[in-house]
Amino acid sequence: MTIKRTYSILRIFLPLVLTLILAGCSGEKPKEPQSSPAKPDMRSIPVFSGARAFEHLVKQVSFGPRNPNSKGHSACLNYLEQTLRASTSDVQLQPFSVAGYNETLALTNIIAKFNPEATSRVLLCAHWDTRPRADQDTNISRRNEPILGANDGASGVAVLLEIASLLKQLSPQIGVDIVLFDGEDYGTEGDLSKYFLGAKFFAANKPPAYNPRFGILLDMVGDKFLELPKERHSTAFAPDIVNLVWSKAKELGYSQFVDELGEEINDDHVPLSEAGIKTIDIIDFNYPDPTHRFWHTHQDVPENCSAESLEAVGAVLTHIIYNQLP
Ligand SMILES: [Zn+2]
Repeated sequence: MTIKRTYSILRIFLPLVLTLILAGCSGEKPKEPQSSPAKPDMRSIPVFSGARAFEHLVKQVSFGPRNPNSKGHSACLNYLEQTLRASTSDVQLQPFSVAGYNETLALTNIIAKFNPEATSRVLLCAHWDTRPRADQDTNISRRNEPILGANDGASGVAVLLEIASLLKQLSPQIGVDIVLFDGEDYGTEGDLSKYFLGAKFFAANKPPAYNPRFGILLDMVGDKFLELPKERHSTAFAPDIVNLVWSKAKELGYSQFVDELGEEINDDHVPLSEAGIKTIDIIDFNYPDPTHRFWHTHQDVPENCSAESLEAVGAVLTHIIYNQLP
């Protein structure tokens, strides 16, 4: 994704203080409410495992960088397809090609449907490709090398793979589509024409009758010091869905979801929302914090991510899905 807004001093230091506070109590896991007699739905919601999601993150990184046309890219595509097929028989690959800078990119979106017959549907998505260059790395000599993308790429996908296994365990009351986008992070900084390639292709080719209630995009949700303010495009596109997610997080006690307005970030949710699928982006751009940067560097590795962070996001999302009524 790319970032548009510049930081104010307050924005830099306030999140830092919050991050330090969070870091100070990182040994405590968010707790589910102990007694909930008035909430019969709670009993029928499967438990999201951050540990299993983290295994999916590590597995993706084990293929190496997954930038378009690389060896890791095709190996990971195969893994993602097989893993989703274990959870649903309705998995479609959506291949397409796009002109890159000095190459033709062979790209593939992966679409996994649950309850394919249901007319009321929700879209969950993340990008599975990783950036072909570490253009933010402090080591200038390594900026042209592709990154591992443990957080920027693997984290959102990892959460969705775990959710897919839960959807197999217990069918939701609505239809759910998990879409893994390719080619999100290819463009050089500032060149938006070469970003969000998979989401743009998906949006341009969606059948007119495909109109999910809303979409939720996950990007950079694995940061060990996870802090999720409300992304600004999301609050413009779908304020009701932002409130649904953040209030569910609050109800469940996941303090990683911060009740404040964050940056405006260009990501896959923009082309989706422009195509009529109102989509929010759950993203922690400050990785690991506002004054340090692992984003688009060779520091974007599993050691800087955590199962707890994936679990916070996955648990909230799981509750949202299973509470949706037809
Ligand atoms: Zn990125």
